[in-house]
Order: sequence, then structure tokens, then C-alpha cells
Amino acid sequence: MIKQDPSANIAIPELPEEISGLGEIALNLWWTWNPKGKNIFKHLNPYLWKESGQNPIAMLKKIPSDELQKLCKNETFMQEYRYVLALFRGYMDDKTLLGETEPLPIAYFCAEYGLHHSVPIYSGGLGFLAGDILKEASDMGLPMVGIGFMYPQGYVRQVIGSDGWQNGANETIDKDIAPIERVLDSEGRHMTIQVPFIDPPVYTSVWKINVGRVTLYLLDTDIEENDPWDRQISSHLYVPDLNQRLRQQIVLGIGGYRVLEELGIEYAILHLNEGHPAFALFERVRAFMENEGMTLERAIEQVRKSSVFTTHTPLQAATDVYSFDMMSHYFGDYWQRLGMNKEQFMQFGINPDHPESGFNMTVFGLKMCNYRNGVSKKHCEVSREIWKGVFSEEQSAKAPIDYITNGVHLPTWLGDELFETLNGTLGENWLTMQDNPDIWMPVESIDDRELWNLHYTYKVRMVNFIRERVRRKWADERIDPVIAMAEGVMLDPDVLTIGFARRMTHYKRPDLILHDLDRLEKIINNFERPVQIIFAGKAHPSDNPGKMILQRIFKIAQDPRFRGRIAFVEDYGESVAKYLVRGCDVWLNNPLIPMEACGTSGMKASINGTLHCSSLDGWWPEGYNGKNGWSFGGERSDDTDDAQALYDTIERQIVPLYYELDERKLPGAWIAMMKEAMKSISPAFSARRMMKEYIGKFYAPIGRMLEEGEKR
Ligand SMILES: *Cc1c(COP(=O)(O)O)cnc(C)c1O
Repeated sequence: MIKQDPSANIAIPELPEEISGLGEIALNLWWTWNPKGKNIFKHLNPYLWKESGQNPIAMLKKIPSDELQKLCKNETFMQEYRYVLALFRGYMDDKTLLGETEPLPIAYFCAEYGLHHSVPIYSGGLGFLAGDILKEASDMGLPMVGIGFMYPQGYVRQVIGSDGWQNGANETIDKDIAPIERVLDSEGRHMTIQVPFIDPPVYTSVWKINVGRVTLYLLDTDIEENDPWDRQISSHLYVPDLNQRLRQQIVLGIGGYRVLEELGIEYAILHLNEGHPAFALFERVRAFMENEGMTLERAIEQVRKSSVFTTHTPLQAATDVYSFDMMSHYFGDYWQRLGMNKEQFMQFGINPDHPESGFNMTVFGLKMCNYRNGVSKKHCEVSREIWKGVFSEEQSAKAPIDYITNGVHLPTWLGDELFETLNGTLGENWLTMQDNPDIWMPVESIDDRELWNLHYTYKVRMVNFIRERVRRKWADERIDPVIAMAEGVMLDPDVLTIGFARRMTHYKRPDLILHDLDRLEKIINNFERPVQIIFAGKAHPSDNPGKMILQRIFKIAQDPRFRGRIAFVEDYGESVAKYLVRGCDVWLNNPLIPMEACGTSGMKASINGTLHCSSLDGWWPEGYNGKNGWSFGGERSDDTDDAQALYDTIERQIVPLYYELDERKLPGAWIAMMKEAMKSISPAFSARRMMKEYIGKFYAPIGRMLEEGEKR
């Protein structure tokens, strides 16, 4: 099925024979979601582990070789090493398939993947969803392969000036310390392919990342064969220049498809996560025609019947649309090759609501894939409404867009100690049954004090992490003390803490809680029952309104009347997210309804016992059961009303529940709510549940259909 390819890793230094398996583990992201895998690197040298930003490859490069020799003679370490290596190899060789049916091989295309901070090729939620899908596919033993982009200069580090304005600093991926490998061609050279049909030609090299048992292939146009403009195609995520963006999507869809062909990877199902890679559909049509001798009509039908399209936005305006001129420039030869004329070709991307606007990538995906889904029940309803023009009446009657609510990869997002506690409470096998609500019932039996102490540990760790960052900034840049305060140096782990961390953009209303500063001040500075708020999140580099919201928050964080209890943490990403979703007490979410298609950070918080307080948008109408968090605000999303409703919820429900101690000196009612959140949300919003739905609703029916077709 999926052929192993030869590949070379440039990154790992020579290791002593006795512990050479560490290199093997370091080059597979498996360790990132296995506490024992993480610990083996940490135990190698705790100081370097921290200094290298928990990147095993960076660490192995720094660690002196005599130290490694010494470790080889340390029997305790060697025992742990052998155990972890056996665990890893056992996982890799395990052929058990979790799930009822074995789906046919799936090729999964996405423009970004959030896997770990050592591979910064993501911008936000879409990427983390894609990353969690690959990890879960690996855990379940699904035959999946991923296609994405390398983005060598992809990561924009957020640096906030003393005036609160976000300045981006581009960072180049250090290919020498990222867990990536070159894919080699049959002659042992770094594999490079020409993207078909772009003229003048564009080339892309191919890398890979091991995500457990799943391989993710990454395209990289930053190579010598290309001229400077072409080298830039894959340099950043979502380039604003439309022409370059179109070229990016041609490389991803059509080039990505070519890579699979070149590697001899066969698959039966094509899954497109969002419209960016949708051109792969055309390439699939061409392949069916040229390799299997199908007619155009037959090939289109075959592609439709075996492709899945997931849409992630509730807004028509947020989709990519390319002018017909621009499309003609690149696809003139292409439609001829497919035996189409221009009109026929463009028809696939024409939005009946705006037929003149150009070629719409979401419309294209919806028209060319018979299996379509939104990412929550609510988002599905919205999607059916906004895209109803795309479907015929007959199609519309059959609810042409289904939904599969997002989930999160539990082993990635659960805190390690909590993971161990669950091992002890739910039984060693709980992960194999994680989507079954019944197995979560024993969460009730976790000792209240133990759970509370664990939560407090996460909170202290978060506060220390934030303070340590500010300390470094202070030491390196001599920042103004007021800035140090605004960045969280005065946070107190004993104070009720509300977290708001996500993209700083208008529809998420990051500053809703700052709507009435006088009322907020009373809440924050309540003498006996104070509250603190931690903000984090980046504005898109071209989103000035988003940057202005951020600036406003940052200015308010500097206002002495809030006493350092409002903080803005710089450079939100995977690693900051992990501290915050575990360490905050409350996770706030207040988008303009219905703009949040799903949202996943609230799931990451809830599985860790951080309580979700959200307006009823995205996944929350499905997740909220009245006992596992809070909901507030109306359907209409009026800022003033919603802010007042939020303050009411905080004052009347959240604050008393948190500070009311029972005879054991514990907030018993709060802890009960934490347990309710963990046991109701973890199974239902696990990536396991989500993947089983993708199999049940899409992958398995496609497989049955294809097998039927073969019999005939
Ligand atoms: C989970 C996650 C997101 C997505 O969060 P939303 O709730 O969808 O806004 C974004 N960024 C990071 C770093 C995440 O971990």
C-alpha cells in the first residue's frame, strides 16, 4: 500500500552505539505525545532540554559526547532508554486497527499543520486540526498520508513594541534542528519535482516528517532551481498577493499530487482540508483520464465519488477567489489537456451568487466532492445556508453538507501528570476506548485534593513560565517596568484566572471583557475575591483592526488601576497554548455568532479541567450540558449586552464558585465542575470520536462504493 521511501536525515549527530535509538525516536514526533518519550530526553540533560526549547535534535547536537558516554554506563538511564525504545518500536510495528472497518488509503491535503513548535508550519486552528488528525490516524493505524508545505520562513514571531503595536519578526526554519528528513530520489539525491503545467517551470523539493506511523510530505520551493520569485512561493503561509497565492495553491494541489505519483504512493480517497489544496482535484481527473483511460465525464464522476471536502469558514467572503484572467494565465494548457474549453473549466469554480467574481476555491471543492462537511453542527447549518446557491434543489433537499465536529488529540493536549492520573484511574487501556463516555465515569473517583493540587501545579507552572519570559526580556532589552507588568510579571497563582488566547481578530472580540472598564475594575480588584485575565494571540500581519484591538488590550494592561492583573503574553503558539489551557481556571470564548466555525482551544482547556465560559457558538452548543462550564450572551451578539452578561456570569457564578471553600478547605463545587467537564467533553470532543465519524460517514462508504464498482 504505502511504499517506504528512501530518505536521509541531515540533522542527527553521531550517537554512541548503545543509545543510537535516541536518534530514531527524535526523528518521529511520536515522543511529543508520549510522556515517557518526552522524559527520556529530559533525563538526558534537564538543563539543555529546557534551553533547546524541548527540541531533542537541537539538544542532541549540543550535548557533549563524553556526557553521552557516561550515560551509557548509567544503568538507571539505560533501563529507561531500553523501555522507551521498546515502547516506540512496539507502537510503530503494531498492526492493530482501531475502528470497525479498515478504510482504503487516504491522502490528506492541507495548507498548514500544527504538530509541534519545532516545526513551525502553522498559523492557527486549521493547522492544529490537521496535525491532530494525522496523530490520531497514526494512533488508530489508519492508512493515511499527509501533504503540506514547508514554509521555510513561515513563522512570524510576535514582538510587541512598548506602544502595544504588534511587530512581526520573520523566523527562518532551521532545517538542521527541525525533525524533518529529505526525501531522496532513486539516485540518492534530494527529490525535486517539476510542478506540471506552470510556465516557466517551477520546481519543488520534498521533505518528510514522521508523525508516528503516518508520513507527512512537505513541499519546498526555496531551492536553487527556481528563480527568486518562485523560491518565495512556499516561503510564508497565505501570502496576501493573490497571484503568488494562486501559484502557492497550484504547487500545493497539483505539485502535491505529483509528489504522491512520484513516490508511488497509491490511495483511494482524497481528503481536502479547506479550499487551499483543491486543485489536486483537477490533477486527479487528469490522472484518471491518462492512466486509466477514463472519459472526462467518467473521471469527474469518479473523483466526485471518492473525494472529501471539509469547509472551515462561515463566511463567503473568507474564501479564495481568483479572477478568470489569472486562472487563464496558468490553466490555459491545462483545460485543453483535460479536453475542456474555458467555460467548462471555469464552471467548476463559479459561485452562482457572484458569477462574475472569479474562480472560487470553496465552490470548487463543494462541486467536485460528493462528501462535504462543516466542522460543527452549527457551522453545518450556516454552511448549507450560505452555499445553497451552489446546489440544485434536489441536492439541497438531501442536505448536501454534513457535519463532523472537530476534536482534539487527547495525548497531545492533556498535561503529562494528568495523563498519568488518568492511567491510574481509568485503567491502562483507556486510550483505546477514549471516545466511550462510560469509561470516563471513574473520573468522579479521583481524589478532590489530588486533582486540585494538580491543577494548581499547572497554574504555578504557567505563571512561572510567563514571568521567566519577562525576566529574560528585561535582562536582554531593559524593557520598561510597566511593560514587564503588562506582560504578566505580577500574576499570582492564587487568584482566579481567566484566559483568552486565540487569533486577535475582530470577530473573536478579544476585548469584549474590556467593554465596561469601571465594572471590570470592581471585578478584578475585589478585595477578597480578585480576578486576573491573561490574553495571548497574534493578529494576522495584514489585519490592522486586529492589531488595534491588541494594542488597546496592551495599553489597558499597563494601566496601574488594574494592578498588574491584566496581562498580555507575547508570541502565542503551541508551547504557550499548552501552558495556558492547563494553567488557567476559566477559558473565555466570545465570538460574534455565528462566526466561530468550531473552535478547539476550549476543548483543550476542558479536558484539562479548565472550565469553558463561552457564547453559544461553534462546538459549544453541542458541548455545553449546564454543568460543565458556562454559557452567556444572546444569539444576536450585541457587544454591550454580551459584555454585561459576561460580567454577570463572572460575578454571580464564577467568582463565588471558585472562592467558596468547603469544610475541607477546597472549592468542592468547582472541582465537581472540573470533573464534569473532563468526563463529558474528553470522549465527545476527542480526535478519536472525530476520526471515527470521518470513517463512518465518508471513508468507509467510499470504500464500499469503490469495491462495488470493481466487482461490476
Ligand atoms: C488550538 C489552537 C488554536 C485554535 O484555537 P481556537 O479555539 O480555534 O481559536 C490556535 N492556536 C493554537 C496555538 C492552538 O493550540
